[in-house]
Amino acid sequence: MFKALVVEKDEDGKTHADVQDLDEARLPEAEVTVAVEYSTLNYKDGLCIGPGGGLVRHYPHVPGIDFAGTVEASSDDRYKPGDKVVLTGWRVGEAHWGGYAQKARVKADWLVPLPDGLTTRQAMAVGTAGFTAMLAVMALEDHGLKLGDGPVLVTGAAGGVGSVATAILAKLGHEVAAVTGRPETADYLRDLGAAQIVPREDLTEVTRKPLESETWAGCVDSVAGAMLGRVLKQMKYRSSVAAVGLAGGAAIEGALITPFILRGVNLLGIDSVLRPYGDRVRAWNRLAADLPMDKLEAMVQPATLADLPSLGADILKGRVKGRVVVDVN
Ligand code: NDP
Repeated sequence: MFKALVVEKDEDGKTHADVQDLDEARLPEAEVTVAVEYSTLNYKDGLCIGPGGGLVRHYPHVPGIDFAGTVEASSDDRYKPGDKVVLTGWRVGEAHWGGYAQKARVKADWLVPLPDGLTTRQAMAVGTAGFTAMLAVMALEDHGLKLGDGPVLVTGAAGGVGSVATAILAKLGHEVAAVTGRPETADYLRDLGAAQIVPREDLTEVTRKPLESETWAGCVDSVAGAMLGRVLKQMKYRSSVAAVGLAGGAAIEGALITPFILRGVNLLGIDSVLRPYGDRVRAWNRLAADLPMDKLEAMVQPATLADLPSLGADILKGRVKGRVVVDVN
């Protein structure tokens, strides 16, 4: 038997989540059984713990889109009992049972060996949010971002992706401008390395101006909506925006073609879910090297499985700061 957060759907279509004892025989068929140690909380988890957001296919469901733990059994040569592993993406926790449980059974293809220098707890302090932040920084670098190019903007900075992006970019030596709608997080963001705090309302007015003054050498954007429409017009010549999320809306409001054709700005789409294995290993190794672990610890809010229903509702309302780390045991 093992403990898991189980989401069930009533006949009237309402979902409710609680911690239950499950028999191991209920785990899905797959090659690798993992004794989960830590999971975390992402925006998608908020949806999957709650109303489902169209992501969950079958109930009862065990959410948790990422986890880290120790291999308990494996029928795949790449993994053996005792190996430390981490999982993000592949629709685990949405279409498949996920990491809000003491045990998970998944395909070997979905796992990555835990990089040297990271504990399972640190890996989940990073989680999908931090892994995606690293992919975003790597994409900016691959498209030419260099030290000394100028300030790099991070939107949704006090959230999970934004916090990790701020800490990585600052550690690498970039001047980080952190956009937040929560002024009370300014000290937290400065401690992570932000040189400048930009109030959210400075970037949310939709304008029809074709361009604004060239300000940002790069941007990691988790917000989209009106903010991305404005930011694109403020990007420096031939710089890039890594588009990660849609916390502020799925459309790019007020966007015009002018930044792309007059300034050669790049809009880089960042997907973490189906990333090929090589990219995953590269990103995890970069995280182990480039993310300051003391800053990571400062982002952590510890939680248990029982805390998740209320935390899931909080993240959907933009009320979670930094990274929630769930000790499933
Ligand atoms: P969080 O909720 O932790 O952070 C989002 C942040 O965005 C909030 O903390 C807030 O920052 C800001 N925000 C929220 N609502 C608004 C709004 N209406 N207008 C402007 N800013 C807003 O989520 P995560 O960091 O975990 O994820 C961020 C986004 O990235 C989500 O949309 C998520 O789905 C997506 N994502 C995409 C991935 C991919 O593979 N592409 C992987 C992981 C996440 P502040 O309070 O500082 O203003």
